[in-house]
Amino acid sequence: MPSEFDLIRRHFTRPAAHTELAVGDDAALIAPRAGMRLAVSTDMLVAGTHFFADTDPEALGWKTLAVNVSDLAAMGAEPRWALLALALPTADEAWIAAFARGLFAFAARFGVDLVGGDTTRGPLNLCVTAIGEVPAGEAVTRAGARAGDDLWVTGQPGRAALGLAHLRGDVVLDADAATCCLDALTRPQPRVDAGLALRGIATAMLDVSDGLVGDLGHILECSNVGALLDAATLPLEPLLATGADPRLARRCLLAGGDDYELLFSAPPSARPSLAALQSRLGLPLNRIGTLTPDARQLVIREADGTLRAPDARGYDHFA
Ligand code: ADP
Ligand code: MG
Repeated sequence: MPSEFDLIRRHFTRPAAHTELAVGDDAALIAPRAGMRLAVSTDMLVAGTHFFADTDPEALGWKTLAVNVSDLAAMGAEPRWALLALALPTADEAWIAAFARGLFAFAARFGVDLVGGDTTRGPLNLCVTAIGEVPAGEAVTRAGARAGDDLWVTGQPGRAALGLAHLRGDVVLDADAATCCLDALTRPQPRVDAGLALRGIATAMLDVSDGLVGDLGHILECSNVGALLDAATLPLEPLLATGADPRLARRCLLAGGDDYELLFSAPPSARPSLAALQSRLGLPLNRIGTLTPDARQLVIREADGTLRAPDARGYDHFA
Protein backbone atom coordinates (compact mmCIF):
# COMPACT_ATOMS: atom_id res chain seq x y z
CA MET A 1 0.00 0.00 0.00
CA PRO A 2 1.74 3.23 -1.13
CA SER A 3 1.93 6.07 1.39
CA GLU A 4 0.26 9.40 0.78
CA PHE A 5 3.73 10.86 0.13
CA ASP A 6 4.58 8.19 -2.47
CA LEU A 7 1.31 8.94 -4.27
CA ILE A 8 1.96 12.68 -4.29
CA ARG A 9 5.55 12.23 -5.47
CA ARG A 10 4.70 9.70 -8.16
CA HIS A 11 1.51 11.20 -9.54
CA PHE A 12 1.20 14.87 -8.68
CA THR A 13 4.74 16.23 -8.78
CA ARG A 14 5.84 17.61 -12.15
CA PRO A 15 8.32 20.36 -12.99
CA ALA A 16 6.59 23.73 -12.61
CA ALA A 17 7.13 26.11 -15.52
CA HIS A 18 6.60 29.48 -13.87
CA THR A 19 6.50 28.96 -10.12
CA GLU A 20 9.11 29.79 -7.49
CA LEU A 21 8.22 26.85 -5.22
CA ALA A 22 5.59 24.24 -6.10
CA VAL A 23 4.59 20.81 -4.68
CA GLY A 24 6.60 19.42 -1.75
CA ASP A 25 6.86 22.10 0.90
CA ASP A 26 4.37 23.42 3.45
CA ALA A 27 3.12 26.03 1.02
CA ALA A 28 3.81 27.06 -2.56
CA LEU A 29 5.33 30.42 -3.48
CA ILE A 30 3.76 32.19 -6.43
CA ALA A 31 4.37 35.69 -7.78
CA PRO A 32 1.91 37.60 -9.95
CA ARG A 33 3.55 39.66 -12.69
CA ALA A 34 3.72 43.43 -12.30
CA GLY A 35 0.36 45.18 -12.54
CA MET A 36 -1.62 41.95 -12.31
CA ARG A 37 -4.33 40.91 -9.89
CA LEU A 38 -4.81 37.30 -8.83
CA ALA A 39 -8.18 35.78 -9.78
CA VAL A 40 -8.90 32.84 -7.46
CA SER A 41 -11.69 30.30 -7.74
CA THR A 42 -12.49 26.91 -6.26
CA ASP A 43 -14.91 24.18 -7.32
CA MET A 44 -15.67 20.77 -5.92
CA LEU A 45 -16.63 17.69 -7.94
CA VAL A 46 -18.38 15.07 -5.82
CA ALA A 47 -18.90 11.50 -7.06
CA GLY A 48 -22.62 10.80 -7.45
CA THR A 49 -23.47 14.51 -7.60
CA HIS A 50 -21.29 15.92 -10.37
CA PHE A 51 -20.06 12.75 -12.08
CA PHE A 52 -20.63 9.00 -12.08
CA ALA A 53 -18.12 7.19 -9.84
CA ASP A 54 -17.20 4.91 -12.77
CA THR A 55 -16.33 7.85 -15.08
CA ASP A 56 -13.13 7.37 -17.08
CA PRO A 57 -10.47 8.75 -14.69
CA GLU A 58 -8.41 10.38 -17.43
CA ALA A 59 -11.38 12.40 -18.64
CA LEU A 60 -12.21 13.22 -15.04
CA GLY A 61 -8.70 14.60 -14.47
CA TRP A 62 -9.16 16.87 -17.48
CA LYS A 63 -12.62 18.00 -16.45
CA THR A 64 -11.70 18.67 -12.82
CA LEU A 65 -9.21 21.30 -13.89
CA ALA A 66 -11.28 22.49 -16.87
CA VAL A 67 -14.32 23.53 -14.83
CA ASN A 68 -12.14 25.63 -12.54
CA VAL A 69 -10.17 27.25 -15.34
CA SER A 70 -13.50 28.10 -16.96
CA ASP A 71 -14.29 30.34 -13.99
CA LEU A 72 -11.00 32.18 -14.57
CA ALA A 73 -11.81 32.54 -18.28
CA ALA A 74 -15.15 34.07 -17.31
CA MET A 75 -13.31 36.85 -15.45
CA GLY A 76 -10.99 37.51 -18.39
CA ALA A 77 -8.12 36.03 -16.38
CA GLU A 78 -5.22 33.96 -17.70
CA PRO A 79 -4.90 30.62 -15.87
CA ARG A 80 -1.53 30.17 -14.09
CA TRP A 81 -1.68 27.90 -11.05
CA ALA A 82 -3.87 25.24 -9.43
CA LEU A 83 -4.12 23.32 -6.16
CA LEU A 84 -5.77 19.92 -5.92
CA ALA A 85 -7.47 18.53 -2.82
CA LEU A 86 -8.34 14.92 -3.34
CA ALA A 87 -10.30 12.41 -1.23
CA LEU A 88 -9.94 8.84 -2.52
CA PRO A 89 -11.68 5.73 -1.19
CA THR A 90 -8.67 3.52 -2.04
CA ALA A 91 -5.14 4.02 -3.32
CA ASP A 92 -5.96 2.55 -6.75
CA GLU A 93 -2.75 3.49 -8.54
CA ALA A 94 -4.00 2.74 -12.05
CA TRP A 95 -6.95 5.04 -11.44
CA ILE A 96 -4.77 7.77 -9.91
CA ALA A 97 -2.23 7.57 -12.74
CA ALA A 98 -4.98 7.93 -15.37
CA PHE A 99 -6.56 10.81 -13.46
CA ALA A 100 -3.18 12.58 -13.22
CA ARG A 101 -2.58 12.00 -16.95
CA GLY A 102 -5.81 13.82 -17.81
CA LEU A 103 -5.15 16.58 -15.31
CA PHE A 104 -1.62 17.26 -16.55
CA ALA A 105 -2.70 17.07 -20.19
CA PHE A 106 -5.08 19.92 -19.45
CA ALA A 107 -2.46 21.76 -17.38
CA ALA A 108 0.08 21.58 -20.23
CA ARG A 109 -2.46 22.70 -22.83
CA PHE A 110 -3.61 25.72 -20.77
CA GLY A 111 -0.31 26.70 -19.12
CA VAL A 112 -1.23 25.79 -15.55
CA ASP A 113 1.33 24.76 -12.87
CA LEU A 114 -0.02 22.37 -10.21
CA VAL A 115 1.56 23.88 -7.10
CA GLY A 116 0.03 22.00 -4.19
CA GLY A 117 -2.90 20.25 -2.68
CA ASP A 118 -3.95 17.65 -0.18
CA THR A 119 -4.49 13.90 -0.47
CA THR A 120 -6.64 11.99 1.96
CA ARG A 121 -8.76 8.85 2.24
CA GLY A 122 -12.52 9.36 1.96
CA PRO A 123 -15.50 9.27 -0.40
CA LEU A 124 -14.32 10.23 -3.92
CA ASN A 125 -14.21 14.01 -4.00
CA LEU A 126 -12.11 16.33 -6.16
CA CYS A 127 -11.56 19.95 -5.27
CA VAL A 128 -9.43 22.31 -7.32
CA THR A 129 -8.46 25.87 -6.55
CA ALA A 130 -7.44 27.70 -9.71
CA ILE A 131 -5.47 30.93 -9.73
CA GLY A 132 -5.07 33.24 -12.69
CA GLU A 133 -3.84 36.71 -13.51
CA VAL A 134 -5.72 39.67 -14.89
CA PRO A 135 -4.46 43.25 -15.33
CA ALA A 136 -5.66 45.48 -12.48
CA GLY A 137 -9.04 47.03 -13.32
CA GLU A 138 -9.68 44.79 -16.36
CA ALA A 139 -11.49 41.80 -14.86
CA VAL A 140 -14.97 41.27 -16.33
CA THR A 141 -17.47 40.76 -13.52
CA ARG A 142 -21.18 39.88 -13.54
CA ALA A 143 -22.13 43.37 -12.50
CA GLY A 144 -21.31 45.63 -15.45
CA ALA A 145 -24.17 44.89 -17.87
CA ARG A 146 -26.36 47.81 -18.99
CA ALA A 147 -29.83 48.01 -20.49
CA GLY A 148 -29.42 48.20 -24.27
CA ASP A 149 -26.41 45.86 -24.32
CA ASP A 150 -26.55 42.82 -26.59
CA LEU A 151 -26.43 39.37 -25.02
CA TRP A 152 -23.98 36.88 -26.55
CA VAL A 153 -22.95 33.28 -26.02
CA THR A 154 -19.84 31.49 -27.29
CA GLY A 155 -19.78 28.14 -29.09
CA GLN A 156 -22.57 25.61 -28.82
CA PRO A 157 -24.44 25.54 -25.51
CA GLY A 158 -26.53 22.38 -25.00
CA ARG A 159 -24.09 19.81 -26.35
CA ALA A 160 -22.99 18.48 -22.97
CA ALA A 161 -26.60 18.08 -21.80
CA LEU A 162 -27.42 16.27 -25.01
CA GLY A 163 -24.45 13.97 -24.39
CA LEU A 164 -25.80 13.26 -20.90
CA ALA A 165 -29.29 12.57 -22.28
CA HIS A 166 -27.67 10.10 -24.68
CA LEU A 167 -25.81 8.37 -21.81
CA ARG A 168 -29.07 8.08 -19.90
CA GLY A 169 -30.85 6.62 -22.91
CA ASP A 170 -33.29 9.55 -23.20
CA VAL A 171 -32.23 10.06 -26.81
CA VAL A 172 -30.28 8.00 -29.31
CA LEU A 173 -27.82 10.18 -31.22
CA ASP A 174 -26.12 9.05 -34.38
CA ALA A 175 -22.48 8.04 -33.94
CA ASP A 176 -20.79 11.31 -34.94
CA ALA A 177 -23.17 13.45 -32.92
CA ALA A 178 -22.76 11.17 -29.90
CA THR A 179 -18.96 11.49 -30.08
CA CYS A 180 -19.15 15.25 -30.31
CA CYS A 181 -21.70 15.66 -27.48
CA LEU A 182 -19.94 13.17 -25.18
CA ASP A 183 -16.69 14.99 -25.82
CA ALA A 184 -18.31 18.27 -24.76
CA LEU A 185 -19.55 16.54 -21.60
CA THR A 186 -16.37 14.73 -20.61
CA ARG A 187 -13.58 16.96 -22.00
CA PRO A 188 -14.90 20.51 -21.90
CA GLN A 189 -12.72 23.20 -23.50
CA PRO A 190 -12.96 26.30 -21.36
CA ARG A 191 -13.09 29.45 -23.49
CA VAL A 192 -9.85 30.93 -22.19
CA ASP A 193 -8.81 32.71 -25.41
CA ALA A 194 -12.27 34.18 -25.81
CA GLY A 195 -12.32 35.32 -22.17
CA LEU A 196 -9.00 37.12 -22.59
CA ALA A 197 -10.05 38.71 -25.89
CA LEU A 198 -13.33 39.93 -24.36
CA ARG A 199 -11.57 42.14 -21.80
CA GLY A 200 -12.46 45.70 -22.69
CA ILE A 201 -15.40 44.51 -24.86
CA ALA A 202 -17.73 42.54 -22.58
CA THR A 203 -19.53 44.59 -19.93
CA ALA A 204 -20.48 41.48 -17.89
CA MET A 205 -19.59 37.82 -18.29
CA LEU A 206 -19.93 34.38 -16.70
CA ASP A 207 -19.37 30.80 -17.72
CA VAL A 208 -22.46 28.64 -18.20
CA SER A 209 -22.09 25.74 -15.79
CA ASP A 210 -25.66 25.28 -14.55
CA GLY A 211 -27.65 26.15 -17.67
CA LEU A 212 -27.96 29.27 -19.81
CA VAL A 213 -31.25 30.59 -18.40
CA GLY A 214 -30.31 29.94 -14.78
CA ASP A 215 -26.86 31.46 -15.13
CA LEU A 216 -28.19 34.45 -17.06
CA GLY A 217 -30.22 35.14 -13.92
CA HIS A 218 -26.94 35.86 -12.09
CA ILE A 219 -26.00 38.59 -14.56
CA LEU A 220 -29.49 40.08 -14.34
CA GLU A 221 -29.31 40.08 -10.57
CA CYS A 222 -25.76 41.43 -10.24
CA SER A 223 -26.26 44.07 -12.94
CA ASN A 224 -29.87 44.88 -12.04
CA VAL A 225 -31.12 44.56 -15.61
CA GLY A 226 -33.59 42.33 -17.47
CA ALA A 227 -33.21 40.33 -20.67
CA LEU A 228 -35.18 39.63 -23.80
CA LEU A 229 -33.99 36.33 -25.32
CA ASP A 230 -34.75 36.00 -28.99
CA ALA A 231 -35.70 32.34 -29.65
CA ALA A 232 -35.11 32.72 -33.40
CA THR A 233 -31.44 33.53 -32.80
CA LEU A 234 -30.64 30.64 -30.46
CA PRO A 235 -28.09 28.29 -32.10
CA LEU A 236 -30.51 25.33 -32.22
CA GLU A 237 -29.70 24.02 -35.70
CA PRO A 238 -26.54 22.07 -34.75
CA LEU A 239 -28.42 20.36 -31.90
CA LEU A 240 -31.35 19.47 -34.17
CA ALA A 241 -28.89 18.08 -36.70
CA THR A 242 -27.91 15.40 -34.15
CA GLY A 243 -31.37 13.85 -34.44
CA ALA A 244 -32.65 15.27 -31.13
CA ASP A 245 -36.28 16.41 -31.19
CA PRO A 246 -36.92 20.17 -30.99
CA ARG A 247 -38.16 20.11 -27.38
CA LEU A 248 -35.13 18.24 -26.09
CA ALA A 249 -32.75 20.38 -28.15
CA ARG A 250 -34.24 23.57 -26.77
CA ARG A 251 -34.22 22.26 -23.20
CA CYS A 252 -30.57 21.26 -23.51
CA LEU A 253 -29.65 24.66 -24.97
CA LEU A 254 -31.52 26.73 -22.38
CA ALA A 255 -31.25 24.61 -19.24
CA GLY A 256 -28.47 22.10 -19.81
CA GLY A 257 -25.45 22.43 -17.57
CA ASP A 258 -21.78 21.58 -18.00
CA ASP A 259 -21.03 23.36 -21.28
CA TYR A 260 -18.66 26.00 -19.96
CA GLU A 261 -19.46 28.40 -22.76
CA LEU A 262 -19.18 32.11 -21.94
CA LEU A 263 -22.34 34.21 -21.69
CA PHE A 264 -21.63 37.93 -21.94
CA SER A 265 -23.09 41.33 -22.63
CA ALA A 266 -21.59 44.00 -24.86
CA PRO A 267 -22.83 47.28 -26.31
CA PRO A 268 -24.15 47.20 -29.91
CA SER A 269 -21.14 49.32 -30.91
CA ALA A 270 -18.98 46.23 -30.25
CA ARG A 271 -20.65 44.16 -33.01
CA PRO A 272 -17.87 44.75 -35.59
CA SER A 273 -15.14 43.83 -33.06
CA LEU A 274 -17.05 40.69 -32.11
CA ALA A 275 -17.46 39.69 -35.76
CA ALA A 276 -13.69 40.06 -36.19
CA LEU A 277 -13.05 38.14 -32.98
CA GLN A 278 -15.26 35.28 -34.12
CA SER A 279 -13.15 34.73 -37.22
CA ARG A 280 -9.87 35.23 -35.38
CA LEU A 281 -10.79 32.62 -32.74
CA GLY A 282 -12.60 30.27 -35.13
CA LEU A 283 -15.32 30.14 -32.49
CA PRO A 284 -18.98 30.99 -33.13
CA LEU A 285 -20.25 33.97 -31.15
CA ASN A 286 -24.04 34.08 -31.18
CA ARG A 287 -26.04 37.20 -30.37
CA ILE A 288 -29.13 35.81 -28.64
CA GLY A 289 -30.88 38.78 -27.07
CA THR A 290 -30.87 42.22 -25.53
CA LEU A 291 -30.69 43.53 -22.00
CA THR A 292 -33.62 45.63 -20.81
CA PRO A 293 -34.25 48.08 -17.95
CA ASP A 294 -36.79 45.65 -16.34
CA ALA A 295 -34.70 44.51 -13.39
CA ARG A 296 -34.38 40.70 -13.23
CA GLN A 297 -37.18 40.10 -15.74
CA LEU A 298 -36.36 37.43 -18.27
CA VAL A 299 -38.62 37.18 -21.32
CA ILE A 300 -38.33 34.94 -24.37
CA ARG A 301 -39.58 36.21 -27.72
CA GLU A 302 -40.71 33.24 -29.78
CA ALA A 303 -40.20 33.12 -33.53
CA ASP A 304 -43.88 34.12 -34.05
CA GLY A 305 -43.46 37.22 -31.89
CA THR A 306 -45.21 35.96 -28.74
CA LEU A 307 -43.52 36.84 -25.48
CA ARG A 308 -43.33 34.48 -22.55
CA ALA A 309 -41.45 33.75 -19.38
CA PRO A 310 -38.95 30.90 -19.85
CA ASP A 311 -40.10 27.37 -19.07
CA ALA A 312 -36.59 26.05 -18.74
CA ARG A 313 -34.80 26.72 -15.46
CA GLY A 314 -31.14 26.22 -14.76
CA TYR A 315 -30.29 23.10 -12.78
CA ASP A 316 -30.46 23.89 -9.08
CA HIS A 317 -28.64 21.50 -6.72
CA PHE A 318 -31.11 22.09 -3.90
CA ALA A 319 -34.37 22.41 -5.82
P1 ADP B 1 1.13 19.19 4.98
O1 ADP B 1 0.88 18.06 5.91
O2 ADP B 1 2.25 20.10 5.37
O3 ADP B 1 -0.11 19.91 4.59
P2 ADP B 1 0.98 17.32 2.87
O4 ADP B 1 1.62 16.06 3.29
O5 ADP B 1 -0.49 17.41 2.90
O6 ADP B 1 1.67 18.52 3.62
O7 ADP B 1 1.44 17.62 1.37
C1 ADP B 1 2.81 17.61 1.02
C2 ADP B 1 3.02 18.44 -0.22
O8 ADP B 1 2.33 17.84 -1.30
C3 ADP B 1 2.47 19.85 -0.10
O9 ADP B 1 3.31 20.70 -0.87
C4 ADP B 1 1.11 19.76 -0.76
O10 ADP B 1 0.72 21.01 -1.30
C5 ADP B 1 1.38 18.73 -1.85
N1 ADP B 1 0.20 17.92 -2.20
C6 ADP B 1 -0.51 17.08 -1.44
N2 ADP B 1 -1.49 16.46 -2.15
C7 ADP B 1 -1.39 16.94 -3.41
C8 ADP B 1 -2.10 16.71 -4.61
N3 ADP B 1 -3.14 15.85 -4.69
N4 ADP B 1 -1.74 17.40 -5.70
C9 ADP B 1 -0.71 18.28 -5.65
N5 ADP B 1 0.02 18.53 -4.58
C10 ADP B 1 -0.32 17.88 -3.45
MG1 MG C 1 -1.75 18.84 3.94
